[in-house]
Amino acid sequence: MTPTTIEWSDWVWNFLRGCRRVSPGCVNCYAEGVARRFSGPGLAYEGLVQIRDGKPIARWNGKLRILEDKLDAPLRKRKGLRIFVNSMSDLFYEEVPFEVIAAAFGIMAASQRHIYQILTKRPKRMLEFFAWLERQTDRGPHHEPLHPIGVCLHYAQQYSEHEALLDTAPILRRAWPLTNVHVGVSIEDQQRLEERLHLLMQVPSWVRWVSFEPALGWVDFKGLHGSPPTWPALPPSIFSASCRPNQETLNAVAHHRRMANLARLRHVQSTVAQPSRWSTGTGYLDWLVVGGESGPKARPFNVRMIPRLIEQFSAAGVPLFVKQLGSRPIERYGYLETPCSGNGCGDGDWCSAHSARPLKLKHKKGADPAEWPEGMHVQQRAPEITREQEAELVAAQEAARAA
Ligand code: SF4
Repeated sequence: MTPTTIEWSDWVWNFLRGCRRVSPGCVNCYAEGVARRFSGPGLAYEGLVQIRDGKPIARWNGKLRILEDKLDAPLRKRKGLRIFVNSMSDLFYEEVPFEVIAAAFGIMAASQRHIYQILTKRPKRMLEFFAWLERQTDRGPHHEPLHPIGVCLHYAQQYSEHEALLDTAPILRRAWPLTNVHVGVSIEDQQRLEERLHLLMQVPSWVRWVSFEPALGWVDFKGLHGSPPTWPALPPSIFSASCRPNQETLNAVAHHRRMANLARLRHVQSTVAQPSRWSTGTGYLDWLVVGGESGPKARPFNVRMIPRLIEQFSAAGVPLFVKQLGSRPIERYGYLETPCSGNGCGDGDWCSAHSARPLKLKHKKGADPAEWPEGMHVQQRAPEITREQEAELVAAQEAARAA
């Protein structure tokens, strides 16, 4: 594990290397650039990137390397950390065996002090994993199903002899799904939002989030409401959104989150009678991270969408974290109503040549909030389930099992 400069995390836990591009958000994949630099003989990413004209290029070749000795690394960290799971791959990449994913969940179950942040561009496979895991718990019609945490611990023990995995009784008393695992999807535009969000909402989790980075086009969460197969991503209060966020609004958001957590508990207590469904949460998105693309080939990010998102999410009581404006921030007003009228320009709302002005920032990733236009510095954290709340959950789940 290594410390990270990612603003919303503390450390990264990389036990996978290698991936394959899936959508436009991957075009300037940061991990591919790192892999190319360290792809020489004997280096960490040897054999994982494509070779062109005898030279390695920044493009995964589809192979995957699993670093089994790194799987239990979080168990060796005593202080509670926010841990981003795999910045050099995608946990739900098709080449990653379900057994390895289950082992990772076993490690996460055994280290409740950490908050794990999972991001994937493959929510369909994430759903397939949970369906597979549920099948693993099945012991036939005449026996109680196994505890899913027990299955995950079983696989974790295949890779590690760490003492934290030996005393399983307290771990098996934890709530399922794991309260310290936040699952999310990466999206880059409206198409990917609509493709991935409704799948994320079906994943059993207490905290679901979206990372809108690199932001490559306008996205509208409001437009998703109530039109299957998409999902009502935000609570209905968003439709009365009219206020610009100020400190008062932000305080109200914090209060709303506390109330939402309580509502979440009540929701669980009313549905816990069907524990095998593993269904949790309010059915709404819990956190949004937004950021522009960085690097020499960065694509433009119209920062004018940030106030709009802040307004929508504040009104909905959902926290939002503006990470960075990226290396090519632009400002273009009226993008919603008036597509670009530049002669022959096919870029529509995302035209950077017409009607847009570049925003000059000193920070090369646009990550210094002091330089941002007014009203954009909103960096709220994801909601966390407290130990006390987890204890209430466990009591409710045990009562349901005993009934
Ligand atoms: S899914 Fe992530 S790691 Fe994989 S190619 Fe795309 S950006 Fe890179």
